[in-house]
Amino acid sequence: MEKSAARRLAIILLISFTAFLLSTYTVHDVYQERTIKIYDEVRHTMEEIRHKKIDVPVKVVDMEWVLERWGSSTVSEEEAKKEEMFYKSLLIVPSNFSFKRKVDSEVAGFMAFYWKDAVYVVRENFDPYSNSGKEALAHELEHAIQDRYFTIKAGDTHDGEKAYSALIEGSAVIAGWLYVNKSIEKELSKIENETECKFEINRGFDDSLHLLYFFPYKFGTLYAGKMYLETGDLDNGYLNPPKSTKEILEGKKSFIKVVGNWDVEGYDLIRNDTLGEFFTYIFLSTHLSDCEALESAKGWNGDNFKLFRLNNSFVFFWKICFETEKDADEFQNSITQLLNTVGVKKGDYWETGLKGTINEIIKFKRNGREILIEGMGKI
Ligand SMILES: [Zn+2]
Repeated sequence: MEKSAARRLAIILLISFTAFLLSTYTVHDVYQERTIKIYDEVRHTMEEIRHKKIDVPVKVVDMEWVLERWGSSTVSEEEAKKEEMFYKSLLIVPSNFSFKRKVDSEVAGFMAFYWKDAVYVVRENFDPYSNSGKEALAHELEHAIQDRYFTIKAGDTHDGEKAYSALIEGSAVIAGWLYVNKSIEKELSKIENETECKFEINRGFDDSLHLLYFFPYKFGTLYAGKMYLETGDLDNGYLNPPKSTKEILEGKKSFIKVVGNWDVEGYDLIRNDTLGEFFTYIFLSTHLSDCEALESAKGWNGDNFKLFRLNNSFVFFWKICFETEKDADEFQNSITQLLNTVGVKKGDYWETGLKGTINEIIKFKRNGREILIEGMGKI
């Protein structure tokens, strides 16, 4: 009896000693101290490089904290369903796609971010002993500059929002390179090479989502980097923000506003949007070769997409205008090929469901430089 009581006491002591050690470890958090130290170094250097005071603190958080705020548990079932309907109706994700899984996988990659007047680093992903960690801090400090010194309006369409993010993220990537003294020319040519269509960067469903997510970091960096090399300053980009992904991809500023007056009785309009040239490229390249998709998307000159919903059923209309008849011809050829790949032609429409796509009735009409795609189905 006495022996076991003594043992119990020893175990209790051991546990409390471990708890004591853990609590001391929290007080002297080596990780946090190191992070604050390098953050201050990077911040001072960035203030010199950017000629601006950047007076924001750094905070260390863990993945659980991040998931609580931005993970799938913050997405309602309704919101998830609408997003799934959008991606599935346009055949860029498989029929079993889960929007919540996509959100969690994106959030899992968070290393550092700028939010509400502070830079945050995520303990599980951020390494305060690495050069890439310092580069990431410089990147986030550029976001602090964007927030504090400029009023850059985000676009209110998918296309406009992607163009805005391209400027914001692309410029922050360049700022990170400036801090670690990378050659902008060399880094840009690396991205140019790896995004060449001949490498087939979009091999299907998974790549499509990945490319949409990383558009600002790849194509946005090319855009911001070229502007930096031309003008010698990141500030210039913020004064004249891009409005469409066409501008990011081709440098062309003008496009037209397309409005379709469609309605579906008994259905709710759940999305009224301009998807843009980059999305058009992703739509085509999910099922076609990248170079063909890029070529066919390039004549994009404006679009309107409307999605209507009744429970699990949807109807969508997507009218795309092209710059020339030839551009519309190219797109027409590509979409015919795409529908033949994922569906079976029946009269004037296709029934999709091949290659992992959902079952949907889809057709298109050509009118000069305009093409109207119509789809209906269930998810
Ligand atoms: Zn960023």
